Amino acid sequence: MKRNVLIIGAGGVAQVVAHKAAQHNDRLGDLHIASRTVAKAEAIIASVHEKSAMKVPGVFAAHALDATDSAAVVALIEQTGCQIVINVGSPFVNMPVLDACIQAGVAYMDTAIHEDPAKICETPPWYGNYEWKRREACKAAGVTAILGVGFDPGVVNAYARVAEGMMDKIESIDIVDINAGSHGKWFSTNFDPEINFREFTGTVYSWQNGAWQTNKMFEVGKTWDMPVVGEQKAYLTGHDEVHSLSARYPQADVRFWMGFGDHYINVFTVLKNLGLLSEQPVKTAEGLEVVPLKVVKAVLPDPASLAPNYTGKTCIGDFVKGTKDGQPVEVLIYNVADHKDAYNEVGSQGISYTAGVPPVAAALLIADGVWDVGAMANVEDLDPAPFINLLNTIGLPTRIKDAAGDRLLEL
Ligand code: NDP
Repeated sequence: MKRNVLIIGAGGVAQVVAHKAAQHNDRLGDLHIASRTVAKAEAIIASVHEKSAMKVPGVFAAHALDATDSAAVVALIEQTGCQIVINVGSPFVNMPVLDACIQAGVAYMDTAIHEDPAKICETPPWYGNYEWKRREACKAAGVTAILGVGFDPGVVNAYARVAEGMMDKIESIDIVDINAGSHGKWFSTNFDPEINFREFTGTVYSWQNGAWQTNKMFEVGKTWDMPVVGEQKAYLTGHDEVHSLSARYPQADVRFWMGFGDHYINVFTVLKNLGLLSEQPVKTAEGLEVVPLKVVKAVLPDPASLAPNYTGKTCIGDFVKGTKDGQPVEVLIYNVADHKDAYNEVGSQGISYTAGVPPVAAALLIADGVWDVGAMANVEDLDPAPFINLLNTIGLPTRIKDAAGDRLLEL
């Protein structure tokens, strides 16, 4: 039994994590949230209290923390007595936070792969450059570290594992992420613009025919027929989960597709061609050194501010093809989330909601001992049944569509 949770970061995803953790503080114990800007952490706690979201009276405290300072993270873990760390800070802080958890002997989780601010799109598999280098250290310390437990990566990895149980052999996994919502702004990204753009300015890596394939962003598009949101154009995109799923299913083609409207593509193309998405510093005529990408982030809307007016739905799922008893099998495992429902429940938009609920489910499974495996794991390495069943009851129901019809997935 592990108790007391430290949330790192106070952005869009952290807001959802905080509300969901508060709804289950009877099982999770004391809650702490630490971020670079403590006022943001305090505002999140205030919004939890506004919604009276704490299930039982208990601690919820804010702390100032530079999470790139491993020693400071260890000190805060010791000071608060937290045994579970939910890292939803920027991906630049993953490795120092993971190292702190290993040193302190507490459970760790994140929702994205570590990134070096100075490097965009490293060689695959991306996990191999960072988190997987700590596998042995986690094992030696008996530390549970669950990597990429948001929605994608995260729940979609569990969907692949569910499909694995339905087939003798998986031949392809196509993860499709569609946001059919509307935020009403002329242009905005749905999460941190810096991280969002960094995802698309490099090479698109997919795993096909037993090897890494490379493409350019928006080079390969395909229309997918998705439940609820209908036919949607999505583009082959490099994404974290391809880098772990291809290791578990090397025989299968593993691809990630993200939906984009023409407007997003136009704006992105102009910004990129002008050099405004570059992570490399430039000097202005006045001698001021700036990183263009950081300037673009500073002038775009804060993704959290989109929440009150966001309408429409997201649909994210795995189309998996394979064979069973020599016969072809095809299945779609998916979730539909509603932006307005997310706002009404936790004050956030749907993208943050789908990313923030799964780490709280994972924390509950660690607290109960079910997922407390004492080692590093990607989500597909873990039993998907308790995770999917729990998500069904805490806001992210999974549906399955196959030859037998379209229904709630209960395992
Ligand atoms: P935000 O940019 O909204 O929030 C990031 C938070 O991290 C901010 O509060 C920021 O502080 C804080 N932070 C940054 N650097 C430090 C530091 N050195 N020390 C302490 N805190 C720091 O991002 P999101 O909430 O949108 O995303 C959070 C994570 O979730 C990211 O890793 C993102 O990639 C991931 N994600 C995963 C998804 C999934 O489905 N798997 C989907 C969406 C996001 P400050 O406020 O001071 O800037």
